[in-house]
Amino acid sequence: MKPNPKLAELDPEIANALDGESRRQESTLTLIASENHTYREVLETSGSVLTDKYAEGYPSRRYYAGQRFYDEIETLAIERARKCFRAEHANVQPLSGSPMNQAVYFGLLEPGDTILAMDLTHGGHLTHGAPASHMGRIFNFVRYRTRGNRGDIDFDEVRKLAHQESPKMVLCGHSSYPRELDYAAFKRIADEIGAITVADVSHIGGLIAGNALENPLDHGFDLLTTTTHKTLRGPRGGLIACKNEFAQKIDKSVFPGLQGGPHMHQVAGIAVAIRKADTPEFRRYSEQVLLNARVLAESLKAHGVPLITGGTENHLLVLDVAQYVGADGATIQDRLEAAGLICNKQLIPDDSRPAGRPSGVRLGTPAVTTRGMREPEMRRIAALVCRVLDNQAPQAVSQEVVDLARRFPVVH
Ligand SMILES: *Cc1c(COP(=O)(O)O)cnc(C)c1O
Repeated sequence: MKPNPKLAELDPEIANALDGESRRQESTLTLIASENHTYREVLETSGSVLTDKYAEGYPSRRYYAGQRFYDEIETLAIERARKCFRAEHANVQPLSGSPMNQAVYFGLLEPGDTILAMDLTHGGHLTHGAPASHMGRIFNFVRYRTRGNRGDIDFDEVRKLAHQESPKMVLCGHSSYPRELDYAAFKRIADEIGAITVADVSHIGGLIAGNALENPLDHGFDLLTTTTHKTLRGPRGGLIACKNEFAQKIDKSVFPGLQGGPHMHQVAGIAVAIRKADTPEFRRYSEQVLLNARVLAESLKAHGVPLITGGTENHLLVLDVAQYVGADGATIQDRLEAAGLICNKQLIPDDSRPAGRPSGVRLGTPAVTTRGMREPEMRRIAALVCRVLDNQAPQAVSQEVVDLARRFPVVH
């Protein structure tokens, strides 16, 4: 997009950075599994007058006057979210994924209560009680892991911990686990001890909305949480979908428990993104994200690159880069960036290296699929990644990346 001339006049530094970021997106390939390119219509709502107003409260229960259109917008977003995730209730106000999960913990638990969640090096997320997160100090997180070459979740361990530690909440979900989850198995174990079931599907919310992956609510889960800016392709935000019995506690926890005025320009964008998700085009997109990830994984494997769990069943893959020159994810991330291939360093299960220089690199297909790339481009990307891994100068690869990127303009 062209920089806004008024902004350029008022604040040339910010206008330049904005323009630079547009160019960066166009000329590189976003392979970060948690990122995407949103819709022009979402940019419109995000950059609109809806940013001006306070709308504390919920539709027809607000604190300030002048809410007619905010009530319409939020009611539409809630109804669409409920339909999309087949949920009895939805809250669309969380400002992002982290406050969304905090609202769930504080709304349903007391400080000190135990939560059973996935080990971070095995794919779990920071907000699932990482020692560095405040939540890790307030709640007692107990962790289950994966096992074996296929990285199956160790349900024997999940059951053992559930009975030993009596968690009030069983949490599943991940940001770096390339496998589909067995929600029914989690639910069975949680039912044995009477725990609340929460699935944080932040990474795969869009793929569930597009019917390409299983919906935990269909398996009896109590709550689903998801960011709205990853595979769902909306504005940055969070969404909680749940059974009616939790509705009041969740709403009170989000506001006034944790947040003040909702970001209604985001809520409008969420409504638009979910409307888009309810189309045959989006279902095709979701299937293509998965197919692209499988083809990228197969092509990398054919080049001899070791993959955590041996492949992928969703939109992401984790490469074990220990055998390559540089040998750590941070070095490989930098070399790939120099070639225009944007990804992130990643811990692998029981990583012997520190988080700053881990043994893995994570790749994902949501953003390149949004640009219209398909199987041939995935084989091409795999070949380009492998040339960098095999220690070719990134500069030798970067022009080919630019050429490929330019053939698939970013849609907005
Ligand atoms: C991305 C993510 C979050 C946090 O979302 P933010 O918007 O970055 O705060 C929470 N949980 C999981 C599983 C995620 O992948």
